Amino acid sequence: LTKSQALLDRRKNAVANGVGVFNTATVSEAKGAIIIDADGRELIDFAGGIGVVNAGHCPEPVVAAIREQAGKYLHTSFNVVTYEPYIELCEELINILPHGEQTKAMLVSTGAEAVENAIKIARQATKRPAVICFSDAYHGRTMMAMTLTSKVTYKYDCGPFAPEVYRLPFPNVYRYSGERDEATFVKDELKRLHESALNLVDIKSVAAIILEPIQGEGGFNPVPQKYLEGLRAFCDEHGILLIMDEVQSGFCRTGHWASWQHYGVQPDLSTYAKSMGSGLPIAAVVGRADIMDAAAAGSIGGTYIGSPICSVAALATIKYMKEINLNAKALEVGATIMTRLENLMKECPEIGDVRGIGAMIGIEFVKNGDPNQPDAEICAKIVKGCSDNGLIMLSAGTHKNIIRILSPLVITPEQLDKGMTIFENEIRKARK
Ligand code: PMP
Repeated sequence: LTKSQALLDRRKNAVANGVGVFNTATVSEAKGAIIIDADGRELIDFAGGIGVVNAGHCPEPVVAAIREQAGKYLHTSFNVVTYEPYIELCEELINILPHGEQTKAMLVSTGAEAVENAIKIARQATKRPAVICFSDAYHGRTMMAMTLTSKVTYKYDCGPFAPEVYRLPFPNVYRYSGERDEATFVKDELKRLHESALNLVDIKSVAAIILEPIQGEGGFNPVPQKYLEGLRAFCDEHGILLIMDEVQSGFCRTGHWASWQHYGVQPDLSTYAKSMGSGLPIAAVVGRADIMDAAAAGSIGGTYIGSPICSVAALATIKYMKEINLNAKALEVGATIMTRLENLMKECPEIGDVRGIGAMIGIEFVKNGDPNQPDAEICAKIVKGCSDNGLIMLSAGTHKNIIRILSPLVITPEQLDKGMTIFENEIRKARK
């Protein structure tokens, strides 16, 4: 019995089945883009803890900042005693993610909490109850975040869900455009958005529309530029706040601090977590100051919001990301991956689509070249094959037929080449 297998057996005996697992890999140590498993085997990490280690596993300045803070104070609760790291982190977030003339921020611990709070702030600011979200959306597992989440298999028997949540189809060009070119498809989808004011919900009761500009769990689907611009205009026309969930797409993944900066379309509120803290639980809501300030004192917060250790980890992460210009690295890593996959696509008809922004790249597998015939089997085979050969991979998508690459962006060219070679070989093998 290997140490990894023994650990997995203990997991099965002691941990509730509902805590799912994508992979059979284990870890004893991790650095950069490499995980050392319980048996001392080196694994290349293309999953990054679900997009959490864009700056790599255990970046030295981040580890040092955590150690130093641990020797000073661990907890006072920011609701009780004020400490500088929380404030400094908010100042830094405002600086890199400005939402108009005056921006403010608040910290929490997880992505789902950030989403919950963004909705609470939007409702208080507008005094309206309803929220519009999208198909294939993922926003977390707490009650409102789960309600906003589209994937039904994450929600079995978990209801009743939060009321006043309405859903539009996400403008997924690959899946839904059919014979139409992208411009026509987007025009049709914008028409549907405008019609929702008549046939979905009383638009005057809508506080916010929330979307991931590039969907994560839903399959790395980028919103078309013109749709996002149209959505912004629609929100402005109806006094609705636009919330962008950047939990997975933020912090350098797309070559920007947030993917909305790639689009040049500004949200009213936006949410961040994951790679912001290099693995420590820290998340944020950032937004226009007038909206952020509309929430009554005491209505947002919690015991552990913006813990000092997590705040210094995030500050050190952002500083490190700036020092090594991780946004530029993301574009380089993304370009390498994209070129290789586009080449592979020519020889593999099972690859229906390769898409993404920066280093947020997804590969969609379909049968018979048909966007509406998702091929989950080949996807599962490839992920398993990669895992057997030392590469940790993650699938995505409502139909589990998309593989997403979320490797650390500090990955060396040699590691990236090695990982991509394993991936390409496993795709070729899985086709047979
Ligand atoms: N929003 C998005 C876009 C996400 O990808 C996730 C996590 N996958 C969440 C929210 C929830 O974050 P957390 O798991 O930290 O609650």
